[in-house]
Amino acid sequence: ASPSPTVIIIGAGMSGILAAKTLHDSGIQDILILEANSKIGGRIHSVQFRGHTVELGANWVIGGGPRSNHLYEIASKLNLKTYLSDYGNISANIYKQEGGLYPKHIVSAALEVAETRDQFCTSFSTRLSAPGHDRDDVSILVSQRLFKEVPTTPLDMVIDYFYNDYEDAEPPRVTSLKNTIPRYEFLDFGDQTYFLADSRGFESILIYIAKQFLSHKHEVIRDQRLKLNKVVREINYSKSGVQVKTEDGSVYQAKYVIVSVSVGVLQSDLIVFKPHLPQWKTQAIYEFDMAVYTKIFLRFPYKFWPSGPETEFFLYAHEKRGYYPIWQHLETEMPGSNILFVTVTDEEAKRIEQQQDIKIQEEIMDVLKKMFGNDIPEPDEILIPRWWSNRFFKGSFSNWPIGYSQRRHMQLKEPVGRIYFSGEHTYSRYLGYADAAYFAGIETANHLIRCIKHEKYCNGYDRHSTI
Ligand code: FAD
Repeated sequence: ASPSPTVIIIGAGMSGILAAKTLHDSGIQDILILEANSKIGGRIHSVQFRGHTVELGANWVIGGGPRSNHLYEIASKLNLKTYLSDYGNISANIYKQEGGLYPKHIVSAALEVAETRDQFCTSFSTRLSAPGHDRDDVSILVSQRLFKEVPTTPLDMVIDYFYNDYEDAEPPRVTSLKNTIPRYEFLDFGDQTYFLADSRGFESILIYIAKQFLSHKHEVIRDQRLKLNKVVREINYSKSGVQVKTEDGSVYQAKYVIVSVSVGVLQSDLIVFKPHLPQWKTQAIYEFDMAVYTKIFLRFPYKFWPSGPETEFFLYAHEKRGYYPIWQHLETEMPGSNILFVTVTDEEAKRIEQQQDIKIQEEIMDVLKKMFGNDIPEPDEILIPRWWSNRFFKGSFSNWPIGYSQRRHMQLKEPVGRIYFSGEHTYSRYLGYADAAYFAGIETANHLIRCIKHEKYCNGYDRHSTI
């Protein structure tokens, strides 16, 4: 790496790698990527769990729709094992709080109401955003209230959770209707979600992309332009350039910097900007939401849950919304693995991750005993990601909160002088998804390339300073 590259990219997640590749492909190869962790990937993070590869972060790729999805295409090209998630089976698999399954006809009726409510929300959102009728945004909850059927029973709540919180990682009360629904990732890429379960991991998609422009030996990237274990703590910027300082005392100079860390990290004090970012930028950062979505993996000595066709997903309906609600077994993907995982989000995810593993295990076992009886074994291993406490993420993915305007979102990705911003949170169409990070990286880099190649495009970035 040159002592003073043209661009420093902070973060080697999907958006950072795509930004670096886009710069490289345009001829700007004098770049330096600084990554805090010991490997690339960020929120794409595959780990070994009892001899199987499981994904702590991104797991599903979407496909089968009118627009081709690059990530899905790469997964297919690499022959990664993906499995179509059949959510249709949940009508037969919802457990009551005290145990026992809800009768199928009751669940089917509740699902029908939820589906009609969801369709109402979609058409209401479309009406709110109709050209020429740009009306105020509402939360998904307000839209549900207008439909008149707001979920209140444990059964209705867990179904509603499945429709909304399971996607947004925050409840309908806080989520913007206009900026979340319709869900463009499904409209564009298709309504088929494929669960990636391959020994090479979801990470191999990103490694495949990185290998196209970074030197490597087999699957290991060995390029002077990628520095791992480099925690950026300070960015000094001026009209003439940027200076980036890392925790280990290194100092790097460049003409520009792309910051691709999560909005949760930007909201924390991990990176200090000197001078302070202007108020419009800080506000745009603080007002956005970093949601928490956690998959807790458990491995048991033998399986005690139903397996076979149409059993993969099962739901637990509790009076406390979001209490260990969505379960999945991996019998199809990893036969004989005896692995289950449960997904929790938002405040529950935060509450849970602040506890010790043993306490979490106790809570989970109480829930499993309600569903499957007392005669079940303890897990021989539990794996609890702590995305919210992790200072390099501070959550799992962003969510668009009610009251946050499109203009604010433009400011969220707007450069400040020589500092450019990327990351999934900056790409609204597929917000939260790895696809958003993919396109965000390309978009940010193209923005910067225009500026580097034609200086006139660099001007005017402080036009919000009076807002
Ligand atoms: P990141 O991946 O966060 O990359 C930023 C990088 O910056 C990280 O590598 C981080 O280590 C680094 N960094 C942070 N601070 C510093 C610092 N100070 N100095 C240097 N480096 C720093 N998406 C899907 O499409 N499908 C899914 O099924 C899906 N499920 C998910 C489940 C979970 C639990 C999580 C967490 C995410 C999920 N996502 C999913 C979302 C997807 O993983 C993210 O949108 C995407 O990976 C974000 O990429 P990014 O480049 O924007 O950010």
